[in-house]
Amino acid sequence: MSSTTRSSPTSAAARPAAVESPPGVAQPSQGYDGAGPFPAEAEEPTAPRGLGDRLYVTVTAVIVVAPFLGLGLAGWLLWGSLIHPADVLLAFVLYLVTGLGVTVGFHRGLTHGGYRSGRPVRVALAVAGSLSFQGDVIGWVATHRRHHAFTDRPGDPHSPYRYGTHLRGQLRGLVHAHVGWLFRNDPTSARRYAPDLLADRDIRAVSRAFPALCVVTLVLPFAAGWAIGGTWQRALTALLWAGLVRIALLHHVTWSVNSLCHMIGRRPFRTRRHDRATNLWPLALLSFGESWHNLHHADPTSARHGVDRGQIDPSAAVIRLLERVGWVYDVRWPTPDRVTARRT
Ligand SMILES: [Zn+2]
Ligand SMILES: [Zn+2]
Repeated sequence: MSSTTRSSPTSAAARPAAVESPPGVAQPSQGYDGAGPFPAEAEEPTAPRGLGDRLYVTVTAVIVVAPFLGLGLAGWLLWGSLIHPADVLLAFVLYLVTGLGVTVGFHRGLTHGGYRSGRPVRVALAVAGSLSFQGDVIGWVATHRRHHAFTDRPGDPHSPYRYGTHLRGQLRGLVHAHVGWLFRNDPTSARRYAPDLLADRDIRAVSRAFPALCVVTLVLPFAAGWAIGGTWQRALTALLWAGLVRIALLHHVTWSVNSLCHMIGRRPFRTRRHDRATNLWPLALLSFGESWHNLHHADPTSARHGVDRGQIDPSAAVIRLLERVGWVYDVRWPTPDRVTARRT
């Protein structure tokens, strides 16, 4: 099914038989030369129009800006020594749980089918990812599959090449790919890109619970801080560091994979035409291995993204662990042949 969405001039035989693109994905837009702005930009709206659009932008602004305000406030409080080891520990644990929920659950499992798992593991990972404040699981997966179907071409929801490859276009594109795209009310059809998840009752329930899970992800550190420290001040510092700051950090690491990992870094593996995904080592640890993004775009279903020596991939390590205890199975580990076939 990949052949309808892949337009690489390179050998079709080197491509994986199964990719993430669902049936019915259209051909990439015609008339894109790989350097100019995406053709649709000529008539793009400059401002939100209706009430629905304004509400969408307002909610997005709260989700994007609030954690950053928390970061500023937290820094100010730190100046007064209002940070405690328990805050850091809580932040670390929640970063780990929610980050792996996104990478192992949302991304490698639900989006790309890099492994199969039983119901409890599937739901637990979907809940963990939902606690990351990155949108509901079905919307996340649909948007990401669309990114793979149209990578760095018209139709990609967050390509840094949207405004062309000249300097000004690149800077504007970087902002767009990192965070600007969130403010465009440009919904991705879940029926088209994630029909498998819509057909899954458990995942639908997790998706519907997203607003409640946003509350949980803030209440958890607040309650834990209160329980550990015994005062409301300790509850508040835990909320700031292990709630807002933790969310802000994971937000920007995730968004950096969308922006930086399509602009800077190495490209040892062949990807489709126009696809400029890169491997960017400085983000490997913080992104749990997701910044080996060039390999990921070259072989989207692979459960391991860091395939070369020394490439840290904590998400793959967690999948391996889950496989050992029998919680996931049918894992698509990269084979030497598969990796070699994709090298440039
Ligand atoms: Zn990408
Ligand atoms: Zn992906």
